[in-house]
This record gives sequence, C-alpha cells and structure tokens, in this order.
Amino acid sequence: MSKIIATAAIRGAHEMVNRAEMALKAAIKQYGKEEIIAYPNTAYYLPIMYLFLGQQVKQMGDLNYSLQEAKKLLGNIPSEKNWLPYLGETLDSGVATLIAEEIIESLKYKNPNHLKDDFWLGFSGDNILRSQGIKLVDGRMPGFAAIVGCTDTNAQAVKLIRELQEKNILVFIAGNTNGRSIAHQLAEEGIEMNWDCFLVPYGNDITAAIHALNFAARSAMTFGGIEAGTFKATKEILMYNNDRVHAFVMALGADKDADKDQLITDEKYATAAGAINFGFPVISDVNIPQILPTGICNYEHVISGVKLDEIIPRAIELRDLTVKVENIPIPVLYGAGFEGERVRKEDMYVQFGGKYSEAFELLLMKPIDEVEDGKIEVIGPEIEDMKEGEAYPLAMMVEVAGRDFQEDFETVLERRMHEFISCANGIFHMGQRAIIWLRISKTAHKEGFRVKDFGEIVLARMHNEFSSILDRIQIKLYTDGAKVAELHKLARKVYADRDDRIGGMTDEDVDQFYSCTLCQSYAPNHVCMITPERLGLCGAYTWLDSKASYQINKHGPNEPVDKGECLEPVKGQWKNVNDYIAVKSNGTLSKFNAYSMMEDPMTSCGCFECIAAIVPEANGVMIVDRDFTGMTPVGMTFSTMAGQVGGGLQVPGFIGIGKLYISSGKFISADGGHKRIVWMSRQLKEEIQDRLKERLEKNGIGDLFDKIATEENAEDPDKLLTYLEQISHPALEMDPMF
Ligand code: SF4
Ligand code: ZN
Repeated sequence: MSKIIATAAIRGAHEMVNRAEMALKAAIKQYGKEEIIAYPNTAYYLPIMYLFLGQQVKQMGDLNYSLQEAKKLLGNIPSEKNWLPYLGETLDSGVATLIAEEIIESLKYKNPNHLKDDFWLGFSGDNILRSQGIKLVDGRMPGFAAIVGCTDTNAQAVKLIRELQEKNILVFIAGNTNGRSIAHQLAEEGIEMNWDCFLVPYGNDITAAIHALNFAARSAMTFGGIEAGTFKATKEILMYNNDRVHAFVMALGADKDADKDQLITDEKYATAAGAINFGFPVISDVNIPQILPTGICNYEHVISGVKLDEIIPRAIELRDLTVKVENIPIPVLYGAGFEGERVRKEDMYVQFGGKYSEAFELLLMKPIDEVEDGKIEVIGPEIEDMKEGEAYPLAMMVEVAGRDFQEDFETVLERRMHEFISCANGIFHMGQRAIIWLRISKTAHKEGFRVKDFGEIVLARMHNEFSSILDRIQIKLYTDGAKVAELHKLARKVYADRDDRIGGMTDEDVDQFYSCTLCQSYAPNHVCMITPERLGLCGAYTWLDSKASYQINKHGPNEPVDKGECLEPVKGQWKNVNDYIAVKSNGTLSKFNAYSMMEDPMTSCGCFECIAAIVPEANGVMIVDRDFTGMTPVGMTFSTMAGQVGGGLQVPGFIGIGKLYISSGKFISADGGHKRIVWMSRQLKEEIQDRLKERLEKNGIGDLFDKIATEENAEDPDKLLTYLEQISHPALEMDPMF
C-alpha cells in the first residue's frame, strides 16, 4: 500500500476528529448535554455509531463517548521509521473518520435551514431506504456510485450522469472539488435531482458522504441481518456489501490546496478509507496513488488516472455490476433513471390525456394470424402535424399473440406500459387505462422523438421481458379524435369486464396460491404467500402477477403452491402451504395463518407498503404507511415499528402489508376484519378511500369509514380512546383482540 495514502488518510482522520470535537464542544455549550440529537425519520439512532459501536446516541452528551471511541481508532501518522505497508491502521482511521463525520452532520440538524441550496437532500430516512432498497435487491438498480467533486465542464458532467442513469446506477453526490460539486453543474444545466431520477445530492461538504455510508450501514442491518455493535461487524459489513451492494466511490478532479503528490485533500483520503471498510473501492480521474487487492477484497481499493470516458466501464468491471441496457430504436436516451423525471409545462412540446384530451391505453390478446409482429402504425396526425403547446387525443392499442398467452395476462402486461414509456429521457407518462397523461418534451422533440416511438418502446420492452409468453406484437397509435372516441367505448367495456373478473376472485376460487421469495436475497427466511385476496406486502405482486411471472420464468421467484387440506378455514391455514413455508423459511417457521395478525401471522421482509399494528387500549388496529413520519397511537413511528417487524420473523400483533390488502374481503378476517380499524395515517386513508369505502359498503358497515381516526384526531392512545368513545367506534364493543 502506498505510504502517501496512509499518511494522508490518517492525517485526514485526525483533522476530521478535531473538527467533530470542536463542533461538539460548541453545540454542547449552546444546547447542553441533554439536548436531543437525531436524524429525521430513522429507527437506527445515528446509524454509523449504532453499527460500529453498538451505541444508541440519543442526546448530545452521548456524542462524547462516540468521539472518544473515534480517537482510540486513530492511527499514528506514519513517519519514515514506523511505516508499515498494511491497511489495518488506515482502515481504523477510516472508521474514526466516519464517526467524526456522523457527529458533524447530525449536529447540522440542529439548524433546520442547514441545507442551503435547495437541491441538497441531506439524510435519507428509513422510508426511503425501504422503498429504494428493493430496487437494489431485485436488480432494477445494479448498484450505486458515490460521486465526490466535479468535472471540468458542465457538458462532461451531464454526459457522465446520463450514462449512469441509462445504466440504472443510483448516484449519491457529496463533497466538492475547489468548492464545486457535480450537483452544482447538474443544477445549472436544469437536470432534476431526486430519488426517482436515481440522483441523490446529499451535501456540498465531504462530511455529507456519511449519508451514503449510513444508508449502506442501515441496509446491512435491515436487510443483511448484521447485528449492530458486534466486534465482527466491521468484517461482516464489508463482506455483505462486497457481495450484495455493488457500490463504488468516484473521486473527480484535483484539489488546488492539496499536496502536489497527493492531488486530493487529506479529508477525502480519510473518507475513502472509511468507504473501503464497506468494501467500496475508489475510482478517480486524477493520478492519486493506487491501492491494489489485499486479500480482504479481490479487487483494487483505489484505481486512479482513469480517463473520464472510461470511468464508468472501469467501475462496472471493478465491481462486477450487472448492467442491462435496453436497446430501443428511439432518438432519446433510455433507462430506469429517467422513470421519475417530469416534463414541466414550460418544457413541454405536446401532451396527450390528463385533463386536456381523451387518451387511453389497452393491451389485448388476439389470434396469432391477426397480429403482424413488429408493425407500428400511427393513425392520425404525427408529431410534424402537431402544434407546440397543444394537447392531442391518443389511443395506444397493443395487440399481442402467443401460444402460451392467457387473457388474464393482459392487465399484467398493460400495467407495465407506464414504466416502459416513462424510462425514455424527456418523456413523461402517468397513470394507466383511461387516466393516462403523456408529455413529449421540447428537447425530446428536437432530438427527433415521434408518436411512433411510443410504439417502438412498448414493442421492444414487451419482447424483451415477456418473450416466453409472447410471440407477436403489433401496435396502433390513434391520434385522430373521432377514432379515439370510438375505440374508447370498446376499452371501457374491456376494463369493466376485467374488473368484474378479477375483483370478484376469492381465495376459495383457486386451488393454488403463489409464493414470492424475491426478498430472500436480503431476508433469507422470508416468504410471501400471495393469494387472490392478499397481495405481496410490497404491493408490487398480485396473485395474477405471480401467476404470469411463473409462466414467464419457471425458475423465477414465484412458484405455485397447492393449498392442500384446509386446517383452519377461518384463520386461513392449509397443510401444503405450511409444508412449503417450513422448507422455504429454512425451517424457521412451521405454520402461518393468512387471515390473522394475532396468531402465527405472515412474516415480513422489509419492504412492506404499510404496517398494521394492534392498539391494545382501543381493542383495534392502526395502519400506517411508510411515508408517514409522525408519531402513531402505539407510541412508535413507522420506522421504529418497521425495525421490529422486518427480517422474516413472525411478530404477533404486527404485520407488514400491501395497500390493496386493506380493502380486501380477507383483511384480518380472523381477528374481526375491518371493524377493527381505529386509526390510519391520513394520506393513506385518502389514497385508498374509493376501494375501502366500496368494501365497507359491501360488508354493510359503510359508516365505518368516517369513524377511522387519523393523526388529525389523535396521536396517542388516550386521545384516540376518547375520540373513539365519542363517535362510538364498533371496535370498542368487540371481543377482546387477545
Ligand atoms: Fe418481496 Fe414479498 Fe414483494 Fe416478493 S411479494 S418482492 S417477497 S415483498
Ligand atoms: Zn420485501
């Protein structure tokens, strides 16, 4: 290992620990030792301290202990005499740096306006960790890059970022080179930065890099089952991230004030040494000294002097990222990183649907001889006949045929059109069926994007993803108003028929359920059992989706499970399902009840959309969604509860669920069903109100909806109880829940 790096990293660690000490002293002087210290919306305290030290930092005074531990980890700055070519001391100094950075960044949260420029996002809460974590797990994101610094020109920055987005690589941004970060460059170029665009700017100071690492630390604890504060933790974290989280640090540009054979600052070296503890190597466009494989990892820790154009391919090789680039013949870039991008009114060339014109999409199965594969027709005006700023009608009719295709799969495929189309750069797509809304941006128009290209996208993606059930696809894009209106009538009928068929399907109608074990890659004992009336807890897989997924790939994450003998009709327990779960949970579970949250409930991995929890005082249950950051009537936030429910364990009284399950006829039916719902987070209640009201009407308890409290009525059990008594909530009259 290079002595320059060791010296710089250890010296940088000393500097960082000093900085933390000064910041802490000042803060304690101002606020006192008892002052509460916490990042917003996490159950992992200050994650770095929790993971490495097992310390639950709650008050400012606790940080004194963290600081002392960091000091113990600081190595001696090597001199000619005591220089040893081992990584150990540098790595420990790296951990000291991380602790110091966590102190500095968490203290910033005492000032609510500390994120000066409006694009900096700061700490990512546990809700984001859970919703984004699954993308790293199921391969939608092959890994992440943490970018420190900036490129010479804005054009280079845009090119680099577009390439990462196109490859679906999540990008964290922190730190600067000579005061400037790539986030400044992207903001100047009008590029949207947020989680949906896979671009996450944390902060301009190098210390903000800690947010990428405390994200990784929480992933390791949430998903990897790594116990906080064990001595082995450091090695396990490295192994976990080495195997599961394919990440790297990209250090761009030389610092003016750095030593001339060092090129970048001591603090950056120290932070890099911290990242190496996570198994995240550093790749740089400047000629900093390299660190080659040492036996802990089979790849280099630092590679440098890589040309900007080659930096992404080199990083992909280095971390063995599995990048899937879609080859679609359209004139704009394409990738999941563009999925969440909006097209604002000022940037719009033309639009379709929304509240501006009639538009819908429909995918239908056809006899094979009626489908000419690859044919895309535009019937009505093409883009050159359209006027800037106007709205036009649009009907996207997709006709498919295949020997193994079933009518049931139509909706599964049709629902993917949103994702497929919105992954094009400069194209906005929202909604489904007849509530779609599309925009083509001015830039996309300038690059040559046409209406026909919607067809090109759908055609290519459908063939890629569904090749085992689809043989032929043809697409007709109608932009002629009269035609669209006529076809819309047909579409309405199809939608209604489908709803009757699927909405009416019950668990009793089928002999097979489907399993999902996708989340076992991080929660190894968790199995979702998906039934027509209970979808997977992440909300992404219904029974039909799983059935289609199995047809498409017999060795994928979904398998049919014969129900077999029914052991408990009310609780929802079947012999074969038990046997299946026993095997797939690696022997940790012997049975489970599909319709009870009190007795042997289904397990949870970590990516549930909501948590349902018992409120003993109210003899009922509350349901909270993961975007709700406030306090709930059980005295815990979503994050705190999530920490207890996840990991593939059965936790009676708590279940992770998908939103659609709340309006299901089987919603905790063994525990008393919907009448038990006493509280829901307001936004969730609003979001699902149509379906929930319909269900309650069906069950003859239509008045219940207005009796369900939200945070506006109560945030603690006493207030909740008073409220429920006032309105005579039926749960109060029911049998005790346990
Ligand atoms: Fe994970 Fe269950 Fe969703 Fe499958 S259905 S991805 S196992 S949460
Ligand atoms: Zn999951």
